[in-house]
Amino acid sequence: MYYKNNDKLHEECGVFGIFSRDADINVAAMSYLALYALQHRGQESAGIAIGDGEHIQLKKGMGLVSDVFADSDFPAAGGHMAIGHVRYSTSGQSCFENAQPMSRKFKQGEIAVAHNGNLTNIAVLKEMFEEMGYTFETSSDTEIIIKMIARAARKGIERAIDDTVQAIKGSYALVMIVENKLVGVRDPNGIRPLCLGKIGESGYVFSSESCAFDSLGAKFVRDVQPGEIVIIDDDGIKSINRNEKTFSQPCAFEYVYFARPDSVIEGISVHDSRRRAGKILWKEHPAEADVVIGVPDSGIDAAMGYAQVSGIIYDIGLVKNKYVGRSFILPDQKARELAVRIKINPLRSVIENRSVVLIDDSVVRGTTSRKIIQMLREMGATKVHMRVSSPVVAFPCYFGIDTPYRDQLMGAQLTVEQMCAEMGADSLGFLSIDGLLQSLDPNRSFCLGCLDGKYPISVHMEG
Ligand code: AMP
Repeated sequence: MYYKNNDKLHEECGVFGIFSRDADINVAAMSYLALYALQHRGQESAGIAIGDGEHIQLKKGMGLVSDVFADSDFPAAGGHMAIGHVRYSTSGQSCFENAQPMSRKFKQGEIAVAHNGNLTNIAVLKEMFEEMGYTFETSSDTEIIIKMIARAARKGIERAIDDTVQAIKGSYALVMIVENKLVGVRDPNGIRPLCLGKIGESGYVFSSESCAFDSLGAKFVRDVQPGEIVIIDDDGIKSINRNEKTFSQPCAFEYVYFARPDSVIEGISVHDSRRRAGKILWKEHPAEADVVIGVPDSGIDAAMGYAQVSGIIYDIGLVKNKYVGRSFILPDQKARELAVRIKINPLRSVIENRSVVLIDDSVVRGTTSRKIIQMLREMGATKVHMRVSSPVVAFPCYFGIDTPYRDQLMGAQLTVEQMCAEMGADSLGFLSIDGLLQSLDPNRSFCLGCLDGKYPISVHMEG
């Protein structure tokens, strides 16, 4: 069976950075607000590092942004640079030591780094450093990045960062404070998102998602390019890209599930792409029904698209309890099923005696769909046609999205017909890979690793 409890280290994170000398901009307070906007990217720990060019102050802790920080933390905070991080990991690695940003003192100064992504050559790099006599205090990739930069810093900080990013492999969107600089870096495939904005008179901001800029009144400038190192200091902004082999392949799952609908990544609106996916889903898998409903939150946009082209009315059929976070993802199957019930409840007046098209953005273990279909039937739905606005997730993600191993993935173990029976649906249809590409941009390339098993970078595959 596919419900085993052997999760690997999964990390989903959000990063933010700001550089501003404006007297009316409090960089720490801005980071705090930005982390609220990025909270959906990680609820397990949060942290902010503030730099004044000489010293770095760091505060981080376990829990939501509102658990770790209070408004009173910020009015007196100084500095003209800050970085922030929110993190979610589901393995036993969830501990304070692994919370970010991470900061260290080294011979030439201090550094603080916040990282979203997963390095795939971490074992080799760690072994190399251990042979040189280094010890590690955490099990996080970020520590090795810091050690590599610190070790090369005598060559000059820009060179040290450049050498480090040439040596690391995998997915990374990094923001860091070092010397008097704020630095943003994206991996050569641009798997995880990172964008650049302007704030106030002459300040700059980095964020995993553009929705954080909207919250701060910052202006979106552009996405950081794959393989690019952007350095901001009192002389302005500088870009280095010495990577010869850059090939943009942003993660398709950011659009499917992870990002907020009000974000724009690589020029593609997340909401618009989800709505297009819903429209294409109807063309690929039409259904006759009285009402279309979406699983809140990330199934709603596609449900609206499906309803729009099918002519079937859209309604709010499921009410979500806003106070149960994504952190309520529990380690065993029974607990997960209970969590769905607490998180989502059907609206009887919309469901009773009606045939329903139920739309969700994705199926991973199948827990959500099975439970919701059961609840809809208990509320009197006459038929439930399940439609999924992404292709079948059949492979794990090694680049920073929490997807379990194949033995837990419903789509890796069962055919669509078997999945339909297992979920208890009257019919089941998934968006095709081609349909997903149409909904994003058919002329561009995306990382579809969790859908087709073809990864942009070679990874050590599970046994
Ligand atoms: P499952 O219940 O295991 O089939 O997971 C699918 C549901 O979880 C869908 O409602 C998705 O919106 C949501 N989901 C998809 N990917 C993830 C993820 N990486 N972490 C948490 N929830 C997810």
